Order: sequence, then C-alpha cells, then structure tokens
Amino acid sequence: MGNSLTSLNEIQTLQFAHEVAKTLKCGDVVCLRGDLGAGKTTFAKGIISALVSELHLDDIASPTFVTMNLYKNIAHFDLYRLKDSNVFIESGFEEYLEEPYIAIIEWPDIIEDLLPKNAINFTIECGVDGLRRIV
Ligand code: ADP
Ligand code: MG
Repeated sequence: MGNSLTSLNEIQTLQFAHEVAKTLKCGDVVCLRGDLGAGKTTFAKGIISALVSELHLDDIASPTFVTMNLYKNIAHFDLYRLKDSNVFIESGFEEYLEEPYIAIIEWPDIIEDLLPKNAINFTIECGVDGLRRIV
C-alpha cells in the first residue's frame, strides 16, 4: 500500500531522499525497509547530507557494526545485528526516537513495538540492474 516511485540509479535515490529530507521535522522516525543492497543506506545518506550541510556523502558510513551513528540531531540506525528490542532500550537508544532527534532506521522490524504510530515508512524493492521501486 502507499505511493510508489521508480528510481533508476543511486543518484535518483539520493535526489528523492533530499526531497524527503525537506519534509522532516524533529521527532520524526523514518523506517527504511528492503533487502540487503536495496539502497537503504544510500537513502539515509541522502537524507543526512541534506540536513547536515557540512557533511559529504563519503563522511557517512553504514552503522552496520556500531548500530547507530549520530550526526548533530540525526540518528542513523542499522538494526540488522540487534538481538532484540531490549538491547535497543538498554543501550539508551529510545531517546533518539523523540525530539529533538530525527531517527533514520534500517532494518526497523526488531523494534516494531517501540516505533511511533506516525513513523514514516519506505520500502525499497529491487528490480533489474539499478531499478528500484520505493514505496
Ligand atoms: P542497503 O543499505 O539497503 O543494504 P546500500 O545503500 O548500502 O543498500 O547499497 C545499495 C547499492 O545499490 C549501492 O551499491 C548502490 O550504488 C546500488 N544501487 C543501484 N541502483 C540503485 C538505486 N536506484 N538506488 C539506490 N542504490 C542503488
Ligand atoms: Mg545498509
């Protein structure tokens, strides 16, 4: 369900993420779903580089091993390796789901019960070559 658009390459996904970034406000939680290699980190980089002006794309790494990277008030999560939502709570991460932060979460399923009702959800589906459908 929901609106969808097609991205033909990484640049188009970054451009779309820039547009999304303009609509975000403190307290928003952005969930990025999709398979490994779908483009979740690319999407997150687009949002973060749009919101934190002195950052370049190369400054933004996937938080695959560290779970969370903080850029000013933008918290970028990758929960792929998180055992369960208790670990999220025990790590003190819940505060990043509220103002003054904006949370961007890859693999959010494991904390589904902690996500706000008004979380903004994007699912990236892979097609052939660089084709992606962003729902
Ligand atoms: P994920 O975080 O979902 O595992 P990444 O963003 O790390 O995915 O990697 C996506 C890969 O797919 C990158 O190498 C990127 O260059 C490539 N790619 C190809 N086409 C697209 C597209 N349309 N949108 C985003 N990434 C794309
Ligand atoms: Mg990723």
